[in-house]
Amino acid sequence: MKILEDKILQCGKVLPGHVLKVDNFLNHQIDVALLKEMANELYKEYEGAGVNKILTVEASGIAIATMVADRFNCPMVFAKKNKTSNVAGDVYSVPVHSYTHNRDYNIIVSKSYLNEGDVVLIIDDFLANGCALRGLINLVEQAGAKVAGCGIAIEKGFQEGGSALRKDGYKVCSLAIVENMTDSSLTFRK
Ligand code: 5GP
Repeated sequence: MKILEDKILQCGKVLPGHVLKVDNFLNHQIDVALLKEMANELYKEYEGAGVNKILTVEASGIAIATMVADRFNCPMVFAKKNKTSNVAGDVYSVPVHSYTHNRDYNIIVSKSYLNEGDVVLIIDDFLANGCALRGLINLVEQAGAKVAGCGIAIEKGFQEGGSALRKDGYKVCSLAIVENMTDSSLTFRK
């Protein structure tokens, strides 16, 4: 998506550890007009898939997931990050490794908000090694619901998550795929 790629080139900063910082429009300050267009693109990809719920993980997936849910006119549910591994109560829970913080945590969703028969579109801001998406897919499967696919703002194509998920049969649509990034250059997959 050209406008997203341009925005990344204009505002993105490459940090050590292959982390792309996009606080200016996606992860801290939100460019609402841009996110609206991104949500429209994702809607076009999954329109007709019978999506009745959007799922993401807090915190940075929430903004774009909300915009996508608005297009589908359905609820958006965000998995919560739980620091302790002892999770009590009526929740689905799965451990996930955090790429940016390099530690494990549980993500949880109340059993009230994911149900058998739901068709769930998973949304996130970034796709790197795929741990966050695998965790979210696991929660959907625990609920006996169906994964319609995974819609991503920025995929780092030089990491393996996206290709592995596609190989496993999931429909993964990324609005921008970074092929290569260094401190001084950033290229996109065409
Ligand atoms: P994965 O689980 O696919 O390895 O990483 C995806 C998750 O880690 C996303 O939810 C995102 O919050 C975070 N993440 C991974 N890579 C980046 C990055 O380059 N920049 C930012 N801002 N977040 C990232």
